[in-house]
Amino acid sequence: MRLPRVCLALSGDTAEDMLGTAESMARDNPLLEFRLDYLKQPQAPLPQVHRFLETHQYVTAIATCRRVENGGKFKGSLASQLDVLTKAQAAGCQIVDLELQSALKSKPEAIARLRSRAGLILSFHDFRATRKLEETLGKMLKIPADFYKIVTTATTLSDNVAMMKFLQTEGGKHALIGLCMGEQGIISRVLSVRAGSVFTFGSVSADLKTAPGQVTARDLRSIYRIDQVDTATRVYGVAGNPIERSLSPVIMNTALRRENVNGVYLPLHAKTLKDLIHCVREIPLHGLSITMPYKQAILPYLDNTDALTSKIGACNTVVRGQESKLYGFNTDAAGVVRPLEQRLSIENAKVLVLGAGGAARAAVFGLKERGAEVWILNRTSAKAQKLARQAKAHTIKRADLRKMAFDVIINATPVGMGNTLDCPLKDQEIQARVVFDMVYDPVETHLLQVARAKGIAVIPGVEMFVQQAARQFEIWTGKPAPAGDMLRAVTIALQDRAAAQKQPKD
Ligand code: NAP
Repeated sequence: MRLPRVCLALSGDTAEDMLGTAESMARDNPLLEFRLDYLKQPQAPLPQVHRFLETHQYVTAIATCRRVENGGKFKGSLASQLDVLTKAQAAGCQIVDLELQSALKSKPEAIARLRSRAGLILSFHDFRATRKLEETLGKMLKIPADFYKIVTTATTLSDNVAMMKFLQTEGGKHALIGLCMGEQGIISRVLSVRAGSVFTFGSVSADLKTAPGQVTARDLRSIYRIDQVDTATRVYGVAGNPIERSLSPVIMNTALRRENVNGVYLPLHAKTLKDLIHCVREIPLHGLSITMPYKQAILPYLDNTDALTSKIGACNTVVRGQESKLYGFNTDAAGVVRPLEQRLSIENAKVLVLGAGGAARAAVFGLKERGAEVWILNRTSAKAQKLARQAKAHTIKRADLRKMAFDVIINATPVGMGNTLDCPLKDQEIQARVVFDMVYDPVETHLLQVARAKGIAVIPGVEMFVQQAARQFEIWTGKPAPAGDMLRAVTIALQDRAAAQKQPKD
């Protein structure tokens, strides 16, 4: 049986919900799993499932009625579980899923009967860890089945490596379905199909996940292009902690798709750098974006960095070279310089930088390298003074701002983030030709609104976000980045996020 790479897991409180979703999503997702255990009466939708499958002959349906003790929601007895699955087969489901624990308690004849009418997935879920994969498979193989499904929990990124090595070794011998759950399991959710898993699971929507860390089927296809992932696909990722809200996967996968690069870019929730570096070598990962809190901590792990990165003392881009050597770059500086040089000549421009953290350092050194005269103002003045000394820049007191006019003011603090009315400067303190806010969520910060009202040209933080990502793309692929497409993708993602935040929750 040749199956699509993504199985859409259908949950829902009512049969109508489940069938309605099946109806609307089957065309793009012809492999459907009906999670009957999510319903109060698991058998209730079967007449509708029957009609649905008769009129949707291209659909392959899996029926699952997982028991509570095995991680599902079905509270009935083992006999009633087998009864539901038998009736699901009669309704036309071509495959049924039965947990190893239920199978071990059943008579072999009962399993054989189940298997005589439909394909059988024998499944095992580990909700705590990724361990004993070969041993578990060994136990499962004693029970004849058509597919063996082992789903574990990733507590480290390296657990994905274990799962994929297992699939690579065993996937040629048996029909396996394997992946890791949890936020750290995304590598396996996307890459297990090339390692040897028959398919992977995707959710209907972010709200309707049937397992922790599940990605929507739509994202698996449109963002991660799972149907194109093959052995030649280069893997890239953004590493940080937390990483859930990062927009880098949206922007980078857009660029890879647009430029026809056979690559995929994943969010990597790295709890330690040691774990991350292990994956860089084992997956292997060809390039990394590094974000909070690792931009400085990554430096000792690198084999070399360019001169600007060393001066800034922070790295946001890693390239894996020959013999797994790691090279570090800082593209935040390009993210500041590029939008500015499109508006004015940076040489001799007077620039005020607010903040003295990592992003401010990238801005100050990047601008100094291009001949700008830079003033630094920071909440903790000692940090501003230290940076000014290192970069041969000036510091300025807040009280003196009203006496100075700048060509550019750059906000490199988080003030204004998250739709607040906070503004790092007062109206009268803003005297410049261009105001550049690094904050990009919201797109239009209060600082930008005030500047616009004063007739000052503004640069929103999304431009920096796009340009630093564009430079990363160029370093990794050697191709010019499609900055326009990247900007559109991130703007839409931010608008969607803002709209979702406004929606009332019931
Ligand atoms: P960071 O290293 O933590 O530095 C934060 C800086 O902001 C420090 O100088 C800090 O001052 C100052 N600060 C923090 N809270 C403040 C407050 N309430 N009032 C005044 N000053 C305050 O952070 P970072 O990595 O430099 O990032 C700074 C901002 O830039 C963040 O909003 C980040 O999202 C944004 N960013 C955007 C992009 C992009 O692509 N658009 C890229 C990188 C960063 P103290 O020294 O006194 O603590």
